[in-house]
Amino acid sequence: MSSPRRKIVAGNWKMNLDRSQARSLAAAVAARSSEAAAAELVLCPPALYLDPVLEAVAHSPVSVGGQNMHDKASGAFTGEIAPPMLIDLGCRYVILGHSERRTLFGETDTVVNAKARAALAAGLTPIVCVGETLQEREAGRTGDVVTAQVRGSLAGLSAAEIGRLVIAYEPVWAIGTGKVATPEQAQEVHALIRRVLGTLASPEVAAKVRIQYGGSVKPDNAAELAAQPDIDGALVGGASLKADDFLGIARAFGG
Ligand code: PEP
Repeated sequence: MSSPRRKIVAGNWKMNLDRSQARSLAAAVAARSSEAAAAELVLCPPALYLDPVLEAVAHSPVSVGGQNMHDKASGAFTGEIAPPMLIDLGCRYVILGHSERRTLFGETDTVVNAKARAALAAGLTPIVCVGETLQEREAGRTGDVVTAQVRGSLAGLSAAEIGRLVIAYEPVWAIGTGKVATPEQAQEVHALIRRVLGTLASPEVAAKVRIQYGGSVKPDNAAELAAQPDIDGALVGGASLKADDFLGIARAFGG
């Protein structure tokens, strides 16, 4: 039986590109999005370039998301971006709890949870990132760590709210390292995450939630990841900065 979940491939551009490069890359992805028409494509540029990227994809099915946001709707939070501001621009998604936010900016599951609630309240679809470090994997703690992150990040959300979000499983040791999890390693954790979602919401809701894999996904390893039953797309860092590479990955999921 084929999956009821529409695949979703998102590009996390991180703190890269300038305005003109951001516009050109977005325009190139938009112009070729039909190559992966069965998948949903999402671009997450630096916040300052959300507007030109939104303009560049305006007449295409490509969606746009933020890379982070604050959990308050407005207020004295210098330098921060409020969820309604992302909605106001036209964003549909926001990445939350990326491992770089967790390790470099001290975001805990409690912080991610507050942001997830705020994103959902504003009408954004959060892409909630979880994943173990190499040390945790080697200590045999992957399952416990990922389970705790999912439970903590989604604490208190209703089944309906859980049904609206996307999870990205990103083993920290695979992000930007060129080391990709094997399809079997990734599938095992994706299936675990779906079971955890089943206990937090219901098996029916869990069956609808899209779980992306992230960590050194490239055009030449995407197909074997896409073949796994619980891998519903990819969150792509480095390879999302080149239209050919991003679209190569997108085609593996939705071509
Ligand atoms: C990421 O940062 O979300 C990521 C998966 O990066 P990369 O694809 O470069 O490993």
